[in-house]
Amino acid sequence: MSTNNTSNTNIIHAIPVDPLTGSISVPIYQTATFVQEAPGVNKGYDYGRSGNPTRKALESLVAGLENGSHAYAFATGLAAIDAVVKLLATGDEIIAVDDIYGGAYRLFSQVYEKFGIKVHYVDTSDLEAISERINGKTKLIWLESPTNPTLKISDIAAIAGLIQNTGIQLVVDNTFATPVAQQPLNLGADIVIHSGTKYLGGHSDLVAGLVVVKEERLAEQFKFIQNATGAILGPNDCWLLIRGIETLNLRFRLQSATTLQVARFLESHPAIDTVYYPGLRAHVHHEIATVQQNGLYGAVLSFTLREDAIDFANEIVCSTRLFKLAESLGGVKSLICSPPQMTHKSIPREKRLQAGVKDSLIRISIGIEDAADLIADLEQALAKALNQNVADPVRLEALA
Ligand SMILES: *Cc1c(COP(=O)(O)O)cnc(C)c1O
Repeated sequence: MSTNNTSNTNIIHAIPVDPLTGSISVPIYQTATFVQEAPGVNKGYDYGRSGNPTRKALESLVAGLENGSHAYAFATGLAAIDAVVKLLATGDEIIAVDDIYGGAYRLFSQVYEKFGIKVHYVDTSDLEAISERINGKTKLIWLESPTNPTLKISDIAAIAGLIQNTGIQLVVDNTFATPVAQQPLNLGADIVIHSGTKYLGGHSDLVAGLVVVKEERLAEQFKFIQNATGAILGPNDCWLLIRGIETLNLRFRLQSATTLQVARFLESHPAIDTVYYPGLRAHVHHEIATVQQNGLYGAVLSFTLREDAIDFANEIVCSTRLFKLAESLGGVKSLICSPPQMTHKSIPREKRLQAGVKDSLIRISIGIEDAADLIADLEQALAKALNQNVADPVRLEALA
């Protein structure tokens, strides 16, 4: 068998055959409670919030994918993020990547700040910027790498080195890279979180979240938080997520390869200003991405237009046929969105602009369609938008 725990062979066979019946598919234990032989004497399960065998199969599978010891499944990615923040107490501080997922920003600023948890947003691709912000109250460094939507890369191993023996914990949201490309626990991170809604599920048919850890002490804390606060993933969605993960490696590799082709097409299109994709040599973090992500750059990219106008961007996102206009990413069908008006709406415009999210920024998530079809779709949408938005024929010619 392959030594890589995210190989097709290892993923498929990390999913157990049911020891009771031989069922090759993990059974869905749709139950609230488990009958006990005597008070406290049971077969390892007593109540559906505390534990469920279908959930256990999912959690073991994901722990293995990330090379962790334990994983915990939550109702959504945000519920997983929320569980991590619950490690903290009033007065504690977080240093977070500046172009953080909009929902995480909203949770930090509108829920946790009022409980006295402070979050500093810095460019975490800059080690010095992190060092400058660390103080006695810092408890967590919060990374996404690549980030959403400008695909910035942070050097996970270097940041782990920076905070070694300080008691500060390194959290990596690994939603975009997936364990196929990057295993943050191997690079020194303490906690990995996922929106299982995206690549792990892979079919845009569920919402789910995961927390993965290596250390026993942290595992105990998350087990407690999961049970004490109750935002668990139900058994049906656990099963569906296991089913999605079976093809994670296949999907992610194909989607990454297609995305590189689409990125090269967009990079050469005259109406486009910047393409954000770490697989392109022009990307500021191309080298670190190549090393840190095993040469797999993922399947999300963003681009800005030379005419930096919302109307122009809107014409494009409303003109594609294969790319569906929707939030989310990571599924088998390609999606397109306007982060300033959709996923990143909850971040104030000045903060967005500071993080490079211009008004015309468009994000696409590449699915499993054929590269040539996706490129043709973008080509026709760009042509249509150019004709409708740039009335002056001389300027049109310059842009197209
Ligand atoms: C979608 C997403 C989340 C939130 O996950 P939900 O399942 O939507 O709650 C968190 N982080 C990243 C990077 C995401 O893309």
